[in-house]
Amino acid sequence: MTKSFFLSLVGAFFLPWVAVAGDALDKIMPIRGFCIAAPRPAELERFVRFVDAELAPHGVNTLVLRVDYNYQFQSHPELRDGGALSRDDVKKLVAVCRKDKIHLVPQINLLGHQSFSSHLGSLLTHYPQFDETPWVVMPKDYKWPNPDALYCKSYCPLHPQVHEVVFAVMDELCDVFETDTFHAGMDEVFYLGEAKCPRCGGKDKAALFAGEVNAIHDHLRQNERHLWIWSDRLLDGKANGLGEWEASANGTAGAIDLIPKDIVLCDWHYEKDVPTAPYLAMKGFHVITCPWKAADVAVEQARDMAHFRQQSSGELRGRFDGVMQTVWSSVSIFLDKDVHSAPEATNSWNCFTAMSRQIKSMQRETKN
Ligand SMILES: [Zn+2]
Repeated sequence: MTKSFFLSLVGAFFLPWVAVAGDALDKIMPIRGFCIAAPRPAELERFVRFVDAELAPHGVNTLVLRVDYNYQFQSHPELRDGGALSRDDVKKLVAVCRKDKIHLVPQINLLGHQSFSSHLGSLLTHYPQFDETPWVVMPKDYKWPNPDALYCKSYCPLHPQVHEVVFAVMDELCDVFETDTFHAGMDEVFYLGEAKCPRCGGKDKAALFAGEVNAIHDHLRQNERHLWIWSDRLLDGKANGLGEWEASANGTAGAIDLIPKDIVLCDWHYEKDVPTAPYLAMKGFHVITCPWKAADVAVEQARDMAHFRQQSSGELRGRFDGVMQTVWSSVSIFLDKDVHSAPEATNSWNCFTAMSRQIKSMQRETKN
């Protein structure tokens, strides 16, 4: 049996079932998310078909698109990537998500992730004065570890002009995507409150991180929009043993008590089903657990999320929002390779379909 034939059988079996059982599915797992880079224009038509033909039938109701500077911004045209999405391109994404009742959430990485590998991102390329570590020269051949402890560059959250620029592109993106929710990234921020920064030096890193989260949150709330971020900087990597990537080892974890509780935390853990969702939920936040490639981990994460919802009191139950598959390859690689891979291959698509099957089986158990 070919993979595509197998998938069409699965689709034929589940499609009507999802359609009639939406309410029950929402009760078990209110958010069934999918997070991927926004397509490039050349990938757009295929991606729109994929949303309609695969994501929607699998019950996905939330799509986070990592746009960054892949949009033809009017407010700051200098920040546009070469060959970025046009307004008409974005409207095709808006239309398919509206048709399939998928909540569309655009993302621009704020604070951290202003470079990757040896490539400096658009913001610091055009506004080098925002660089938190201007003395760290981008390497020709990036290696980790390195003497500068450079993972990704950050912007300085206390630079007096930085928000004027990033809030303009954030607002413009929310407008064109016609959304009430923005994902600001804010994961893996390694450079923050650097001693040599004339504005940040000597300041508390948890307070600096929280200050930036609050500034973004408060700006979005002026237009009644909601903020989502990744959770890792709010977890104490020294205390919980999760290290400096999926948790924080640079003093930001205390920010968890300094930011508003209406922020949704996307809690990514790719290797183990670690029990951070109850911690974040009991702190008062809405939580979405996010897997990557490991199907067995994703199945456990979905099972746990449903279990926490079942076993919690009313108020707490409502904070276990659901799960969101993450994809970290380009859209083309994902569509060309992952989606057509052997079922036993370890990748985001097989992880997603395994998690999707788990959610559906839990729904059948609930019905019986
Ligand atoms: Zn600074």
